[in-house]
Amino acid sequence: MTDPNNAGGGGSLVLSFLKETLNFMFPECCCICGKLADADGRFAGYGKFCEDLTGKPSGLHICGKCLSSFAPYEPSRRWLLCLSNPYDDDPVPNLTLYMPMAYDGPVKSAIPAVKFGKKKELAGFLGCLLGSFMESDSVGADLIVPVPLSEARLKERGFNQAAELAKPAAAILKIPYAENVLLRTKNTNRQTELKGNLERIANVSGAFEASEDWDLKGLTVIVVDDVATTGFTLHEAAMALYDAGASKVLCVAFAGNRQVKNAEAF
Ligand SMILES: [Zn+2]
Repeated sequence: MTDPNNAGGGGSLVLSFLKETLNFMFPECCCICGKLADADGRFAGYGKFCEDLTGKPSGLHICGKCLSSFAPYEPSRRWLLCLSNPYDDDPVPNLTLYMPMAYDGPVKSAIPAVKFGKKKELAGFLGCLLGSFMESDSVGADLIVPVPLSEARLKERGFNQAAELAKPAAAILKIPYAENVLLRTKNTNRQTELKGNLERIANVSGAFEASEDWDLKGLTVIVVDDVATTGFTLHEAAMALYDAGASKVLCVAFAGNRQVKNAEAF
């Protein structure tokens, strides 16, 4: 008698043989360093998580060396002042930045691979890492929002890397996630292309406003970006959320290089 669960078993055997042969002939490359992706089987949990979240396989290929280098800062070093150079009349002087990774090693290759290599699946993986670090540090809020991209850059890239980081992090933390809460009110230059602090402040000053479609009064909101350098962009985004009535804002960046510590826990 034919086992219905095995129907077509011969066909799937052939398919899996073909797949293995193709993998042998054309092995997948690590999406960060380009070497042989020999760690694909080691993050099966992430693959499953991604599939549950999006209904599609993660499509991520990574090598063991890159995978094992994603070590976060010590928990006490992840909490910082949002601005690297605080100024006197800052309306939110104690604004906190949660940033678990140094912008170094594979992260320094991974972030540009996401942004300029358009590796969206890698952003999802980094978002899962971010979410698990935040979960281990008991970070909570009412809402998670990404720093928005300008229309022009969104068109060019096809996705907002901050959103791709924030979505899986929100799912892990079981915090509602929403886009279009923060809106870009002006097109800015890339902060990394500007040299001085004054230039960077002027570039992002008034760059965001909160959408009137959302009632943020009394809410604790987390705003997520990929990288923080001076912190001006996140600071500006947080000010727009406070202006719209948020009671507390936590800025989160996946990575950056910073030493200024903030004593106030979120
Ligand atoms: Zn690699």
